[in-house]
Amino acid sequence: MTDAEDLAAKVQAGELRLHELEAHADHDTAAAARRHLLAEETGADLDTVGDYAFDAEQADSAIENMMGAAQVPMGIAGPIPVNGGAADGTHYLPLATTEGALVASVNRGCSAIRAAGGSTARVLKNAMTRAPVFRVADVGEAAEVSSWVRANADTLREAAEATTSHGELREVTPYVVGDNVFLRFAYDTKDAMGMNMATIATQEAAELVEAETPAELVALSGNLCTDKKPAAINAVEGRGRTVAADVLLSREQVEDRFKTTPEAIAEANTRKNLVGSAKAGSLGFNAHAANTIAAAFLACGQDIAQVVEGSNAITTVDVRGDELYASLTIASLEVGTVGGGTKLPTQAEALDVLGVRGGGDPAGANADALAEVICTGALAGELSLLGALASSHLASAHEELGR
Ligand code: NAP
Repeated sequence: MTDAEDLAAKVQAGELRLHELEAHADHDTAAAARRHLLAEETGADLDTVGDYAFDAEQADSAIENMMGAAQVPMGIAGPIPVNGGAADGTHYLPLATTEGALVASVNRGCSAIRAAGGSTARVLKNAMTRAPVFRVADVGEAAEVSSWVRANADTLREAAEATTSHGELREVTPYVVGDNVFLRFAYDTKDAMGMNMATIATQEAAELVEAETPAELVALSGNLCTDKKPAAINAVEGRGRTVAADVLLSREQVEDRFKTTPEAIAEANTRKNLVGSAKAGSLGFNAHAANTIAAAFLACGQDIAQVVEGSNAITTVDVRGDELYASLTIASLEVGTVGGGTKLPTQAEALDVLGVRGGGDPAGANADALAEVICTGALAGELSLLGALASSHLASAHEELGR
């Protein structure tokens, strides 16, 4: 009997629990034991799930009850020249997806942006938020707490920033609903996506609010943050990076790359992304920005559930004389190049392809650059899909590449 089989037998006999195996064996053996147990109990063949290429211990902070790895194919789009505030030069964008035709579509958009000399991209705002909810007696007390918070922003900043050597508290905004006070803390989290950092810092500041005012903390996250849920506040105020990219294409470039005209692409954008999204009550006025964002997040170790916020994006297209102007503005793109899933081996390699692994110089520059390249990639995806719709090539592309 192998060590893994022995551990699996002990779990089946009730002597060990599934999450205790790393205390009795190395991480890879523990994962093998779980696969063995599952194979026995479910009949599933888990050989491929177990055929991963890193030490299971390296994933310790990213997963519990590890049994293997979900392997998603990774493709590459680009090169794309990005004239950014932080990203400068030509980049390749790794994309992990199971949607056939996605990488080809983004790549076609990249080729158009390349022909045009590149995108212009900028991070416009950097504010990761955490919004605890406090209980107060009545609206009078709510107003009193809000006033105290506004008058003591510096003291709150000092408390919050004592927990981090990188994070900076930008602002605290009170929101009142009856006997609820929400304080939306917004941080510059530099190269970290910052959700842990902001949570730890906000805990410290919230304790100060409780000590100095009648407010009582009910939950450190009061959902006005808003993390991993569709929310207008993120679309309006931003969360993480607010980032935009644009490009100016000549008529020839549009005709050559997309087999259509600037006018047809502009009309498709207006009727679909603007009018259609408005009629639907959508927060996302774009064609499929979340597609590129999800694939880039998966490849580069980002928190995949935050694609929800990434979809808060508006695509604009205008015909300017004989040229096509196109832009994509993503209100809440939550990205980091340190911490979280960025430490995992394949994800770290993908960040190396982009040249943004780890802390930037100055701090924050790498995460800004990542945001600018992803935004440009998503703009490429927008142009390509709009071009395909305008030239009615959508169905045939899927038939050729997706099946
Ligand atoms: P993290 O894994 O906590 O690491 C970030 C830390 O790295 C920072 O706090 C900072 O330490 C340090 N750091 C080193 N160099 C840095 C640089 N150049 N810029 C910024 N920080 C630098 O990462 P996180 O981004 O705060 O949190 C991401 C994780 O949170 C993900 O795994 C995500 O799934 C998880 N998450 C948590 C919550 C939650 O509510 N807790 C919610 C959603 C997601 P100092 O602060 O000491 O400077």
